[in-house]
Amino acid sequence: MYNKEYAKYSKYVGKITRDLRSAYYKTGTNEEKQEIPLEPSQLNAKQGLGNFPAFYLQGQHCEKSDCGCCTNCFYSQFHYDKPSAEEIQTQCDYVIDNFERLVLSQQYGTNEFDGERKYPNSKPIFMTLSPTGSFFSDKEFPKEVRLDFLKKLEQKSDELKRDIVLHIEAHAIDVVKHQDYIKTSEETEILKRLNAKCILGFESADEWSRNVLYNKHLPLECFENAVEILKESGIEPGAFVFSGLVTLTDMESKEDMLNSVRFLKERGAFPVLMFANSQSWTLPDLLRWKEKHWLQEPATVLDTVYGALEILTDKGKSKPGYYLIPEPVEGPPYPIGNIFYDRTDIPDFSEESSKKMHQILKDFRATRDISNFVRSWKEYKKDNPEYEKYQDRIHKKEIEKEGKDIRFAKALKYGVEHMDEYVAYCTEKDREESLEEDRYKIKE
Ligand code: SF4
Repeated sequence: MYNKEYAKYSKYVGKITRDLRSAYYKTGTNEEKQEIPLEPSQLNAKQGLGNFPAFYLQGQHCEKSDCGCCTNCFYSQFHYDKPSAEEIQTQCDYVIDNFERLVLSQQYGTNEFDGERKYPNSKPIFMTLSPTGSFFSDKEFPKEVRLDFLKKLEQKSDELKRDIVLHIEAHAIDVVKHQDYIKTSEETEILKRLNAKCILGFESADEWSRNVLYNKHLPLECFENAVEILKESGIEPGAFVFSGLVTLTDMESKEDMLNSVRFLKERGAFPVLMFANSQSWTLPDLLRWKEKHWLQEPATVLDTVYGALEILTDKGKSKPGYYLIPEPVEGPPYPIGNIFYDRTDIPDFSEESSKKMHQILKDFRATRDISNFVRSWKEYKKDNPEYEKYQDRIHKKEIEKEGKDIRFAKALKYGVEHMDEYVAYCTEKDREESLEEDRYKIKE
């Protein structure tokens, strides 16, 4: 962290985030989850990053979570400390042993791949498999288990005579730390043959957004190094970009994401556009509960996607390259407030409009048809009184807003003052509602 002022804010937000996580672990709601599951957490083709299934290994939680990193995230809610390598292997084997049901039957809509093909006469199979934090973390995914899984996956590809496009997720710091291994290992050779795409946690090109609001603890140089190492190793780099950070206005969020998309395009990394929902046991959720923070409006999501496509296609003059837009209403964990369906914080906003906008996005995700998306979105906006009101609202917020540091300092102070109350509320809520474990299991 280079900026002293930013470091001060990062420390505070890190403490609040850590305290909220610790409070959750003390509630006992995870007591029943003592035994490590035999299956990874599963997202079907309509829930995941793209039109394909995703598998997240359930085991050791993300290492960055302990230091209060990542204000919006609580993936480490479901974790099992120190699982053995065999236990992680069991989850990987489950995917391989049930490949037809879990992977083959979960290829949906359009998926684009223009890399070199071993099996050019059949459709490639797309999938994600990763721990929740970092593929290259030996604690989360022991090296020998990774290698075993990748070998089995390649064998599947050869048996089926279909190329596989494997998406993995990793921390930039792990790529940098293990660069000698990544550049030369047998594992990388297999990853290349599986057309691996490695998505790095990034969130924003802006220092304030990334290292203060999201509290990512990620120097830009580290991210840039990781991108170069992956490219040099023959693994395509991508990056998560996050919109809707706490205290940013809708217009600021949109600009932030678009600047990050421009930055990634220049560096040769593809973007994965994430739009913030509200996760329990996080500072943004605490503030939202007290009506001090609002999710972005659905129209901002669609306008941002439109803007990102303009950048990726040079305003329609070129092909966009690879990009992903994960389904914005999913988890895990399933959000307590979601961007399209929990609009109680926007007056005069109809449920029908929310549904319509979500449908435009869902259709676009499924078809990846940019012209159709642009047409649908323009048609929707044209002479639409709700869209006009939306524009008035977001412009008014720009005029009324205070400085970004004042807004954030106030949010932190409010968070500290209401932490106990929020913890009591969340504890009670968790007691009443059972955790939706089955939501993330691909059914027969
Ligand atoms: S966003 Fe990623 S790196 Fe950050 S705590 Fe969550 S899982 Fe870990």
